[in-house]
Amino acid sequence: MSIKILKKNDKDILKLLKAENGVEYFSFSALEKYNELIQGFSTRIGGISEGPYATMNLSFSREPDNQQGVLENYKRMAKALGVDENSFVLSYQVHSTNVKLVKKSDRGKGVVIDRDYEDIDGLITNERGITLGAFFADCIPLYFYDKRKNAIGLAHSGWKGTCNKMGAVMIKEMSKHFGTDVKDLIACIGPGICQDCYQVSLDVYEEFSKKFKKEDMDSIFREDGEDHFRLSLWRANEIVLNEAGVPKENIFTSNVCTACNPNLLYSHRIMGEERGNMAAFIALK
Ligand SMILES: [Zn+2]
Repeated sequence: MSIKILKKNDKDILKLLKAENGVEYFSFSALEKYNELIQGFSTRIGGISEGPYATMNLSFSREPDNQQGVLENYKRMAKALGVDENSFVLSYQVHSTNVKLVKKSDRGKGVVIDRDYEDIDGLITNERGITLGAFFADCIPLYFYDKRKNAIGLAHSGWKGTCNKMGAVMIKEMSKHFGTDVKDLIACIGPGICQDCYQVSLDVYEEFSKKFKKEDMDSIFREDGEDHFRLSLWRANEIVLNEAGVPKENIFTSNVCTACNPNLLYSHRIMGEERGNMAAFIALK
């Protein structure tokens, strides 16, 4: 499967791997060198869902009549990643900036047992054997790894989360719970919608202008006709992370667009509501 990418150095940042059972997923090169980490971002390839959900839909709520199928997709994903299929703990996304500290006792929540929490767009943990998971179909996944304290985080950052600086909230929560020094953080900005594919209206621009500096606004937004703009969520998240203290050399952006690659990735902008969800994963072995 060929991937439309936007920068020549993408292969240095992101790799498309093929696992033994046919599950294809992205992996961040920048995180692969840490042996204690497992991480990935699913594609549409390698599952059993059909129609607009084909094939690796990882959201039970998008395909309520096919719970067993989605469960099988999780089993395949677990095998491909090399994690326990009972180790997943999933977000409950509502475009908030709420972050949950995940414990061993949460294992399985969202996949094999019900979640006993709501309104959670960010997950953090420093315990081993927990696979944090969050859902995507254009919004931006943010991965965090504190290489000194051996702690991880995963966040869902759409335009609302990005505008409310979810990346900075994650860092604050990791500092509070794990004593994370922001200089030790590796942050990865995963696949999502690119600036060319993401037209927004004036109201979105105005919300950002309340939170971002003028010079940053100019690098995040490009004018696109009357009262319309093209928004770079990747650039906005780079700014948020850098402003929160993550060194530039520790921030890695995937530059793989969900909307540019509809055969490989689900995109809300391209497919609308009739689609599956991909998922981002990170775990400490
Ligand atoms: Zn695109």
